[in-house]
Amino acid sequence: MVLGTGLVYDERYLLHRPGEFHPERPARLEAIIQRLQDTGLMEKLVRIHPYEAPLPWVQRLHDADYIKRFQEACKKGLSIFMVPDCGICPESYDIALLAAGGVMAGVEAVMQGLVKNAFCAVRPPGHHAEHNRALGFCFFNNIAIAAVYLLENFGLSRVAIIDWDVHHGNGTQHLFEEDPRVFYLSLHEDPTMCYPGTGFAREIGRGPGKGTVLNLPLPGGSGDKEYLTALEREGLPKVKRFAPEFVLVSAGFDAHEDDPLAHQNLTREAYKAMGSMILDLARETAGGRLVSVLEGGYNLTALADCVEDHLRQLMAA
Ligand SMILES: [Zn+2]
Repeated sequence: MVLGTGLVYDERYLLHRPGEFHPERPARLEAIIQRLQDTGLMEKLVRIHPYEAPLPWVQRLHDADYIKRFQEACKKGLSIFMVPDCGICPESYDIALLAAGGVMAGVEAVMQGLVKNAFCAVRPPGHHAEHNRALGFCFFNNIAIAAVYLLENFGLSRVAIIDWDVHHGNGTQHLFEEDPRVFYLSLHEDPTMCYPGTGFAREIGRGPGKGTVLNLPLPGGSGDKEYLTALEREGLPKVKRFAPEFVLVSAGFDAHEDDPLAHQNLTREAYKAMGSMILDLARETAGGRLVSVLEGGYNLTALADCVEDHLRQLMAA
């Protein structure tokens, strides 16, 4: 039997409303879903239904008091949590758990052999979320929770997280920088010019995790050539040596030339090329096991274009 590609999505992901003019808006997912319907891709994907991440898994990475404070803030009807860019509404806590649980459901479906790979169209995003801090539109670190789930529920020994969002995934790096079981590779805009100001090449992991963090910052204005060269020559050879048994992708599409939040100039072709290199890596060391998770991407057309291409690639893999 030829396995299909999974899609994690739930209409409840639209219920997280961070504020009227917030770039991380429900319309992002609506644009993706509309595109998948218009192109007929939706009916070819295997729908995976998310669940709210069970608290013990969330607490593996996030401080229990932080989780409680986030829940309380939503319950009280506050409009921001901890930092001004983390807008919330009463539903945000539940939906953030549903986003983390969506990625858990995605990796589960791959591990159980129900699908060969999957894309998680979830929000709020996760890669900026720290152990005890909401940051950069993120509350729970969805992809990090899924990585721990792979290691500790499914008994894997090595998981790679490849993060091509234009912003450095400070949360993901910090959560795993001392953990030799997770290799974190990030391509992002130069931290001296771009949020969140971390992700220098000198940050390489610590203690037992030394050497399992690889940051490839690229100057503002970088385009396809710079990204693809960095990934192919510097990034992937090191991940390959790590030999991950599962590949997770923090798929943000905000390095696109039309994205309003950063200063990079990628075309949709670059995302296709990066996707194909990463799929090759997953095939080589992980038996093709790959789950890709939406992070940023704020131009709706560019986002829908890139996700459409990405899903076609996953299906053809
Ligand atoms: Zn981003």
